[in-house]
Amino acid sequence: MSLLFPALHAASSHTALRFGDRVLSYRRLAAVAGGLAARLQTSAPVAVWATPSLETAVGVVAGLLAGVPVVPVNPKSGESELAHIVNDSAPATVLAEPGAELPAALAPLPRTDVVIPDEAEEGSWVLPTEPNAETAALIVYTSGTTGPPKGVVLSRRAVASNLDALVEAWQWTEDDVLVHGLPLFHVHGLILGVLGPLRRGGALRHLGAFSTQGVARELAGGGTMLFGVPTMYHRLADACESDPDLVRALAGARLLVSGSAALPLRDHDRLTAATGKRVIERYGMTETLMNTSVRPSGSSRTGSVGLPLRDVDIRLVDDTGQRLPVEDTETVGELQVRGPNLFTEYLNRPDATAEAFDGGWFRTGDMATRDADGSVRLVGRKATDMIKSGGFRIGAGEIENVLLGHPAVAEAAVTGEPDDDLGQRVVAWIVPVSPQQPPSAGELTELVADQLAPHKRPRDVRFLDALPRNDMGKVLKRELPGQQH
Ligand code: ATP
Ligand code: MG
Repeated sequence: MSLLFPALHAASSHTALRFGDRVLSYRRLAAVAGGLAARLQTSAPVAVWATPSLETAVGVVAGLLAGVPVVPVNPKSGESELAHIVNDSAPATVLAEPGAELPAALAPLPRTDVVIPDEAEEGSWVLPTEPNAETAALIVYTSGTTGPPKGVVLSRRAVASNLDALVEAWQWTEDDVLVHGLPLFHVHGLILGVLGPLRRGGALRHLGAFSTQGVARELAGGGTMLFGVPTMYHRLADACESDPDLVRALAGARLLVSGSAALPLRDHDRLTAATGKRVIERYGMTETLMNTSVRPSGSSRTGSVGLPLRDVDIRLVDDTGQRLPVEDTETVGELQVRGPNLFTEYLNRPDATAEAFDGGWFRTGDMATRDADGSVRLVGRKATDMIKSGGFRIGAGEIENVLLGHPAVAEAAVTGEPDDDLGQRVVAWIVPVSPQQPPSAGELTELVADQLAPHKRPRDVRFLDALPRNDMGKVLKRELPGQQH
């Protein structure tokens, strides 16, 4: 592999990063991050206190230039999670915005402030030589949706090859200006959202915090691509009803991309109806980076996460571990992945690493079917979204999509609970649009029975004020009332 960030070495005056009114060109980014990299003087991992700031982006780039593993830390993590990350990854130092207050769990670590002078001293920096492609680039902790977060070791090769595959799939150019307000401690916001533009030589405009007005402003002001999670697209769909500027801005964007969780069909349809644009869904994981994406020019139907990216092999296997034939477009199987995008290992977890593989194929834990053209349709997670009821195997996602089609339903989650008769029974958790006028349980169960099949109807409907979600907006089903952990 050649350079991870060719544009940094070229040091042009092209804009690289913009956070609010603070802008760094490639030349200044090379000077500031290159200078910081030279001061790191360690081969141990460095933690980055990953607030949504220019300092975070610079800190991560500095670590990558220095060739040490970068550990992005979610500033909203609890003390025990932080203590776990510190013990597990043993960072030499923590990079942070000057003035940021760090919690007690990080106190034992030497602190390195990321200082970005208004005018970088130019000419006094030399970028370090590029480390071997198999060197760990980042250790990213998983979202913790299904269990305690695991440290995923990602090589420079995995990051570079996956970003190049996305560049190809999305026809990403150096004139593209990416807009997003995602957090910077996961693959989505950081690797795709910061390192993506930098690898391509394009620009990022970060919103600081997501707002629909911010999206409208930045897309109208030169942004060409938008990355978001489904909860953001949900808010955009709502806002389109009363904000013609937003509708115009979204309609003018080159690419709207959604991922990290399934985009409800209703939100997809509302956005297309308002803007005339299709939201492109892509599917990935911390362990695999991106696996599949709908192509902007492709014909995938709504609800599909598209075709495998370049060099990514996928297969579906049944419960007995047998590979499903590619012609089979009906049977749901576990999705397994192979390719240069895969992680190296779970840090300090040889047991979990070994368990995660089936002879070179990574077991994603996601259940899917494949369309005749090879594009992937996710059904849900094996652990939390597959319900066995009355001898049928039911995916929670399709029921959730039907429930969300009811005008009085704001949010919906479906789980399975033990049932003497059925093995498991389908339970629907509903957040009504108006708590004063919730839909009746009968209406909802009938809707599912009519649109899907009688055996898929929820046997219990429970109303809540909000669904438990993590900071990526993913529903935490194990935190619903009464669930077993
Ligand atoms: P943990 O592994 O700690 O339980 P997590 O799996 O949520 O957390 P991530 O690696 O951030 O951690 O998320 C990857 C998962 O997100 C995938 O396995 C998949 O279930 C889900 N996902 C990602 N993109 C999509 C998408 N476009 N549609 C549906 N689900 C998606
Ligand atoms: Mg996972």
